[in-house]
Amino acid sequence: MINEFIEDICSILNIVPPQISYDTSHFQTETMLAACDNEGRTIFLRRQDSMTPDFYFGIAHELRHVWQIRTESRLLDNYKTSNQCENSEMYNLQPAEVDANAFATMVMADFFHIKPLHDGMSDRVIAQIHKRIEELSANGLFE
Ligand SMILES: [Zn+2]
Repeated sequence: MINEFIEDICSILNIVPPQISYDTSHFQTETMLAACDNEGRTIFLRRQDSMTPDFYFGIAHELRHVWQIRTESRLLDNYKTSNQCENSEMYNLQPAEVDANAFATMVMADFFHIKPLHDGMSDRVIAQIHKRIEELSANGLFE
């Protein structure tokens, strides 16, 4: 199930699937579901009892970061981790985060007909995500 989803997303992104690890020892919070390494080789997932929309969203988001690292690294210029940002808005306004959230939002619409609520994100961040979705749609992603 999860492997099939990862393969589907990687084929959309046209990348070789990264390795999957369930080692979450370096996750910063209890609620964190997914992460990737800086080289784009591995995604780390927190084991779930059931596959929730948040989990799918997190996987799609991290796979998009893998794609960024491998093929569009300019999106990661001056990238700061959440600890290096003054607040979550600053973090979420970074081009890499906007792009990953836009991509994951498109995945949820395309695969599950679900519209993520972007809980806790400011109107400014959500507007940037929507702008990026329009750009990616115009470029023919998910057609
Ligand atoms: Zn991210």
